[in-house]
Amino acid sequence: MPEEIYPDLFRIKVPLPESPLKYLNSYVIKGDGRNLLIDTGLNREECKQALLGGLYQLNIDLSTIEIFITHLHADHFGLLASLAGPDTIVYFNRPDAEIIENWQGFEPMIRYAAIHGFPEETLRTAISQHPGYKYGTDWVPEMSILNDKDRIDIGRYSFECIETPGHTQGHTCLYEPDKKFLIAGDHIRYYPEYPVLVG
Ligand SMILES: [Zn+2]
Repeated sequence: MPEEIYPDLFRIKVPLPESPLKYLNSYVIKGDGRNLLIDTGLNREECKQALLGGLYQLNIDLSTIEIFITHLHADHFGLLASLAGPDTIVYFNRPDAEIIENWQGFEPMIRYAAIHGFPEETLRTAISQHPGYKYGTDWVPEMSILNDKDRIDIGRYSFECIETPGHTQGHTCLYEPDKKFLIAGDHIRYYPEYPVLVG
């Protein structure tokens, strides 16, 4: 059963097989008629089963969710295409969205590395084993862009978007100023004195 961390705010632990990270924290906030899902897991069956199972236990229908993605990494983004329908509202940030819009596959990266002397076959082998390659997604739904200081109101919570470039160019956290907690994605890994909900 997903853990209720704050009222109406739940954590679903999504397993990340073969990864030293072990699992991803996906957060679900129940609202009135709408529900918000934050981050998804990899595009693989184990993640899908865990996430759908968690939503089922929370009695949340997939058609009622909106999805916020903190950043463009496969363990947060990869399952998005399996969860979103054509009418699902998906919130994302502009810098990471531009990477998707301009994506030309891995070949430019391989060519660039080869120019600088990196063995091409070694890089191809590494990429073929990378979760972003194996468990990413080809299809991307239309996304609603949120910028720094934009807000998402859901149920009893009102979140402020805080752009935290570094981990990715557009990584964005959600801060709840009244309740004073931060949904941190991968921006902060662990900081026990403060109520930070890590990804
Ligand atoms: Zn990440």
